Amino acid sequence: MSAQIIDGKAIAQKVRSGLGEEVASLQAKTGVQPHLAAVLVGEDPASAVYVRNKQRACEQTGIDSTLHTLPAETTQQELLDLVHQLNNDPLIHGILVQLPLPDQIDELAILDAVTPLKDVDAFHPENVGLIVQGRPRFLPCTPHGVQQMLIESGAEVAGKHAVVLGRSEIVGKPMALLLMQKGEAANATVTICHSRTQNLTEITRSADILIAAIGKPEFVTADMVKPGATVIDVGTNRTAEKKLVGDVAFDEVKEVAGAISPVPGGVGPMTITMLLKNTLIAARLAKR
Ligand code: NAP
Repeated sequence: MSAQIIDGKAIAQKVRSGLGEEVASLQAKTGVQPHLAAVLVGEDPASAVYVRNKQRACEQTGIDSTLHTLPAETTQQELLDLVHQLNNDPLIHGILVQLPLPDQIDELAILDAVTPLKDVDAFHPENVGLIVQGRPRFLPCTPHGVQQMLIESGAEVAGKHAVVLGRSEIVGKPMALLLMQKGEAANATVTICHSRTQNLTEITRSADILIAAIGKPEFVTADMVKPGATVIDVGTNRTAEKKLVGDVAFDEVKEVAGAISPVPGGVGPMTITMLLKNTLIAARLAKR
């Protein structure tokens, strides 16, 4: 039997409409208008599309957004100056620096410079530390989006074996943290796999929940998946024909899995939605 499809686009719409109401209510009660500042350095077309989608989503939920575009030859100091200016602007609640940055700029130096109270991507070490300790200020957008998808799909997570493919700072590592913590769609027994993992198929086949975040087109095949498992595909890869595909071979895995998220229309819209949620949280924090 074919798997239940976890429709990230539909779930994102539902969450966004709730957020829209919360934004309107904050505005009505306090006069605070949540405002996200996005910073785009250089002319990478994919980054420009990501930023545009984020801005459009802000509009949809009544969040203000301002885009700062800087040329590819911007120096680290120039970018730091802009970040400091945004840190000190009381009308800005969230700061998003679109990655990747050009080679002459040290990404960590920039991300560390964003004040933790406006760090809506949850990349700052202070925010990561709070997540590790289970008392988050902001949750990381992609892992939080995945967790919401697990909740909405009705997946049983507590006590189950969750396997995360990938250990990046942005997706794999924080994903594993959220799944192992106490809470909803959490309390899992978690295994993290990476490029040095041995017997990968054996491990993935024991997963009740399988999260793929490795950036390898259609890497996860049906033989790697336990029948009935919930599979969430974070990957976004372009094939030679420019088709967007995930890290999971969707057509074959959906015949084995119990539930599966597609690409596109899966994790992508949820990541943006959680960025909006963090911007609302940041605006509330600024009001205190
Ligand atoms: P990344 O920084 O390149 O990390 C990839 C991870 O996968 C690394 O930990 C790597 O292991 C591991 N890996 C690579 N090949 C592997 C293999 N054959 N077997 C097991 N593990 C392997 O990537 P990322 O930023 O986490 O992104 C992962 C994917 O998700 C990409 O396709 C990206 O575009 C996508 N993404 C999507 C969203 C969204 O909103 N939909 C958001 C973020 C990222 P090592 O650490 O050993 O190198």
